[in-house]
Amino acid sequence: MNEPAHSELRNDLAKLSSPARKFLAGDHRMLIGGRRVDAESGAALEVVDPTSGDVLGAVPAGDAKDVDLAVKSARAALESGPWSRMKPVERERLMLRLAQLLEESAEELAEIESVNSGRTIPNTRAFDVNLSVDYLRYMAGWSTKIHGETFSPSVPYVPDTNFFSYTLREPIGVVGAITPWNVPLGQAIWKIAPVLATGCTMVLKPAEQTPLTALRFAELIIEAGIPEGVVNIVTGLGETAGAALVDHPDVDKIAFTGSTEIGHLIASRCAGTLKRYTLELGGKSAMLVFPDADPEVTIPGTAMAIFGNHGQNCCAGSRLYIHKDIFEEHMAGVAEFARNIRLGSALDPQTEMGPLVSMKQRERVLGYVESGVSDGAEIVTGGCGVTESGAYVEPTVIQNVRPDMKIVQEEIFGPVLVASPFDDLDDVVRQANATQFGLGASIWTNDLRRTHSLIPRLKAGTVWVNTHNVLDLAVPFGGVKRSGVGRELGEEAIRHHTELKTVTMPV
Ligand code: NAD
Repeated sequence: MNEPAHSELRNDLAKLSSPARKFLAGDHRMLIGGRRVDAESGAALEVVDPTSGDVLGAVPAGDAKDVDLAVKSARAALESGPWSRMKPVERERLMLRLAQLLEESAEELAEIESVNSGRTIPNTRAFDVNLSVDYLRYMAGWSTKIHGETFSPSVPYVPDTNFFSYTLREPIGVVGAITPWNVPLGQAIWKIAPVLATGCTMVLKPAEQTPLTALRFAELIIEAGIPEGVVNIVTGLGETAGAALVDHPDVDKIAFTGSTEIGHLIASRCAGTLKRYTLELGGKSAMLVFPDADPEVTIPGTAMAIFGNHGQNCCAGSRLYIHKDIFEEHMAGVAEFARNIRLGSALDPQTEMGPLVSMKQRERVLGYVESGVSDGAEIVTGGCGVTESGAYVEPTVIQNVRPDMKIVQEEIFGPVLVASPFDDLDDVVRQANATQFGLGASIWTNDLRRTHSLIPRLKAGTVWVNTHNVLDLAVPFGGVKRSGVGRELGEEAIRHHTELKTVTMPV
């Protein structure tokens, strides 16, 4: 096995900017009703640096009592007080102010995120901070553009009277948002921005592994002048704080991003109160590579599709189907790409891949690799952890897999690619669709006719052509099958945070 190139593996916290160091050294509190508070129980959860396993600090371990207080303040802000009376243009101004504050604190937040999640600084800068600034600005624009429709009398219910009807798009109400650890602040702001744009209020429960940037963002929410109770942030475990939010009778909608397993649970719990829900869940996205495509595009493109963000992307290209005529050449290129990825601490500017989020996640990912090997698959490169104390996993490429293997069927959520050759188009389409997931897929070819004939045959919320994992904040994103319900981003996010009210009157 080739040794991966890696620099220093532990984060050197002395390299942090002084605002980030100051934040990490301080006390971390939740945001409820505009106040920074500890959990009512006084309990706390440790937060860890995954490059070393060192404890970075502690956050409140909120539970049902804290969630109840947060939901009550969200309800009060929705129904009375300045938020309920605020004009859309004023909400827009507040959101622009919040975006500005985030932009001014960009480096501090990117550093905190890197130290807590293990992801590299360029990554956290781009996806947690800069895209979040853009999304707040994009969604701020929607505040003043939400509208219903008018209907001239068309198919009247009462034959001799004409009725005029119109619809209003009203805020859906109190939103409970639950987010994962793979892009922590980015995911939180995907939830917060449409809530603010539509005039809803919310309680956010960030992932227990990575709650720090949400708590720093809470300070910016106060500084921006967002009225108290509009955004509440409760940290804590999924099975306590998260479950309490899902079950709370006064929450109108759950916006969840996380695993398919918890998504199922949430959908069944929401049925009890008929809460609305949107679910952004797991994936096992297939990439289909054809011989006519340019290897200079397809090799780095398909490699980055899995190894970007350490494979911790819901839409990561984790299954690679390569036409048999180019299988060896393409595999050699992807394996070389993987071997050359520079592992290192999240704060080192030379690093291309940091650790996974936690030792638990590392064990889970390595367990999948082991299961593949015992099922008869072959490791082409990678397959191991790197140090004893950090959550590193080598970029891993596996071949000789069968469609029924666990490593082909289940989401690994780490830097592990499984690859197979194909010959027959119908067969590769069948294999690409043969998992429970349907988040993304990509086609790598320059043949337009083939591209257009394949797009409708792939069961996925997004199909990329000659690229993968590319998102646009104005374009809807989400999954089919067990990859989710509903869409985030773009106008779809506005629809999923509003309810239609129909008004009818005789004319
Ligand atoms: P997870 O489902 O374990 O946890 C996600 C969130 O749910 C966390 O905040 C957790 O505390 C909370 N939670 C856990 N149990 C809960 C319960 N019983 N009730 C309510 N909340 C509960 O997922 P994870 O391991 O944090 O994140 C990785 C998963 O997220 C992967 O499956 C990945 O594909 C998915 N994901 C999907 C998207 C998407 O847009 N489709 C984006 C990012 C991540």
